[in-house]
Amino acid sequence: MSKRIVILGAGESGSGAAVLAKVKGFDTFVSDMSAIKDKYKDLMARYDIPWEEGQHTEELILTADEVIKSPGIPNEAPLILKLKAQGTPIISEIEFAGRYTDATMICITGSNGKTTTTSLTYHIFKSAGLNVGLAGNIGKSLALQVAEDHHDYYIIELSSFQLDNMYEFRANIAVLMNITPDHLDRYDHNMQNYIDAKFRITQNQTPEDAFIFWNDDPIIKQQLDKHGIHAHLYPFAAVKEDGAIAYVEDHEVVINEPIAFNMEQEKLALTGTHNLYNSLAAGISANLAGITKESIRKALSDFHGVEHRLEMVARVRGVDYINDSKATNVNSCWYALQSMTTKTVLILGGTDKGNDYTEIADLVHEKCRGLVFLGADNSKLHTFFDSFGLPIIDVHSMKDAVDAAYHMAQKGDTVLLSPCCASFDLFKNYEDRGTQFKEYVRNL
Ligand code: ADP
Repeated sequence: MSKRIVILGAGESGSGAAVLAKVKGFDTFVSDMSAIKDKYKDLMARYDIPWEEGQHTEELILTADEVIKSPGIPNEAPLILKLKAQGTPIISEIEFAGRYTDATMICITGSNGKTTTTSLTYHIFKSAGLNVGLAGNIGKSLALQVAEDHHDYYIIELSSFQLDNMYEFRANIAVLMNITPDHLDRYDHNMQNYIDAKFRITQNQTPEDAFIFWNDDPIIKQQLDKHGIHAHLYPFAAVKEDGAIAYVEDHEVVINEPIAFNMEQEKLALTGTHNLYNSLAAGISANLAGITKESIRKALSDFHGVEHRLEMVARVRGVDYINDSKATNVNSCWYALQSMTTKTVLILGGTDKGNDYTEIADLVHEKCRGLVFLGADNSKLHTFFDSFGLPIIDVHSMKDAVDAAYHMAQKGDTVLLSPCCASFDLFKNYEDRGTQFKEYVRNL
């Protein structure tokens, strides 16, 4: 009898894992507690995969030889605890897909900058004409691509939740952008658990592999030795300093290893210090893959950026409106504020994941004209910011937020949506929040 694989959660990763399991000949079953989207039902129908929605039937799940868990399902969910108690292995979709491909895996994680760096790296590889797939949190699932089309390279964005259930998977190139507090609600409010999850990206690496990371991240620096990394290290920094192999010197982006590379910093498509890091990480990965200097230079300079990340929306009556809806934690808002060159009206608020706003206090004092609090419950924001003496307006819809910011901003200012928080109190997701922002700005 063939081995039984049960997939929990039928979103992008779950449905892709189901297809791969099925084509590899496993007895495959999919179970989702919520409603499954039509497109995933259609996909599973094409491969004749049985599924259920709105429930988890234990008799059908506890008989699994192995379970592939969607990253959205917490490790503490009762069903997961039951599976663990009976010793059923639980893995992630990426772990599963990794077993069936010998492509070069370029994996990117970090608290912030994952999607930008992943998209930029993919853009460089694709522009250079390589046979490359984009996977992980963005694009098609890795499993579906491994099942349906062959690629030589995969650029994979990995969240800490995906890393949690990875054991044998080996990244040929691992990128760790930074580690700042995020999602602590899913890590027992213990920072070390979250750090350990991020460092899992280096597990199973050998001396032939590469580990690219930000040299000035205090947490990465402090924990590097502890994690017994075998890969060759490629640390990058904003300026030339001890240890860093990539940095900016005299307005030139320099990468020293493995092949000497340089380009004018001014030519980089993405601006701001955080995007310099993203460009360096992507540039080192491309360099490691042997992509020519000319190709890397060109792709780093003609990249269009990613929606909802410091995305310029419009200039209305001399005021710039910027959509940074993806800034769902305080650190990403810090980088957004830091890159502002004018007085700024900051729209922030939403579902707070245990935020400490101290990190942005100085920048708010220095740069903000006023604040618009956009959340179902703004009380924590008031407690922190009321004493700053800035104009503050409370709103509970995006339309009111844009109107309030419009009235608060003066000619030459910038209105920045960079919420520091998740969006689920008032919006479907951060994309919905950013899209609504853009719509109301365009209607001003
Ligand atoms: P992620 O996928 O990790 O959430 P994104 O690339 O989507 O990261 O960017 C999310 C937000 O974080 C952006 O809105 C931007 O303001 C900020 N950001 C982007 N890159 C970095 C970085 N390297 N360091 C810190 N903040 C960043």
